[in-house]
Amino acid sequence: MTDRYALFGNPLGHTKSPFIHGEFARQLGDDISYEAIEAPVDGFAAAVRDFVKAGGKGFNVTVPFKVEAAELADEAHEAVVVCGASNCVKVEDGQLVAENFDGVGLVRDIVDNLGVALKGRRVLFAGAGGATRGAVVPFLEAGVGEIVIANRTVSKAEAIRDLLGPRGSVQACGYEDISGGFDIVLNSTSASLSGAALPIPPAAFEGARLAYEMAYGKGKTPFLELAERSGAERLADGVGMLVEQAAEAFAWWRGRRPDTAPVIEAMTIPLE
Ligand code: NDP
Repeated sequence: MTDRYALFGNPLGHTKSPFIHGEFARQLGDDISYEAIEAPVDGFAAAVRDFVKAGGKGFNVTVPFKVEAAELADEAHEAVVVCGASNCVKVEDGQLVAENFDGVGLVRDIVDNLGVALKGRRVLFAGAGGATRGAVVPFLEAGVGEIVIANRTVSKAEAIRDLLGPRGSVQACGYEDISGGFDIVLNSTSASLSGAALPIPPAAFEGARLAYEMAYGKGKTPFLELAERSGAERLADGVGMLVEQAAEAFAWWRGRRPDTAPVIEAMTIPLE
């Protein structure tokens, strides 16, 4: 029988997740379906109940339901507890078990696909929303030397620092207080979705090995243009992160990890 999976979000637009999971299933010869379910903004829990009742085995979650998914879960893994949001749920005996693979997917993309080591590095996150919350613990676990989180609303960056500070060196500031150069600079704001630029000082990119834009399919965003102009060695967008978190989900649900390389290659749009 076909095993049923889904992505819940609103709006879903042209989501790539059904394509990615379809490719993984084809590669491994698995019989699954993966549908995009645009639940009403106030109807996530009801839509999940219907999905589980219909035999759904697991689902991904995207904006705006990640926090609600964490709250709805019967059991939550550490990444979910720390970041207060879930992007992946497994249905086990009717119970919802929540995970968050965004951060793990990001680390895998940077270290395994892009070949950029994180150990001992100085890292700047621009943005303090769900994506940064999900990424900071896997970055600390990968042994980064120092993390600076800069955000328009400084209190949100401070909240993450206060939550995670004891695990490593995490600082919080506004854009005007960013100082010095970083090995890796990440744009984890949603500014690029509307084409907005960020007031990151050019000096932050001097000597940077990598400037990483978490949004994907947007070409060379204002963030990546600034990074290139300011001397960053390498530019990347979030397509690898998206595929890697999907592979983590697939492996968790089904016990076998797909090869991500051909899927990333099929989805990569050159940054021109
Ligand atoms: P959130 O809504 O949780 O956070 C948004 C962040 O962006 C906040 O820090 C907000 O600042 C900041 N922001 C938005 N607009 C601006 C602006 N014009 N200037 C400065 N800061 C701004 O979003 P997420 O953390 O969930 O997602 C962030 C990005 O990461 C998105 O582009 C998303 O597409 C991408 N993403 C990619 C994934 C992938 O697999 N590649 C997975 C998850 C996310 P403030 O707090 O001040 O409002």
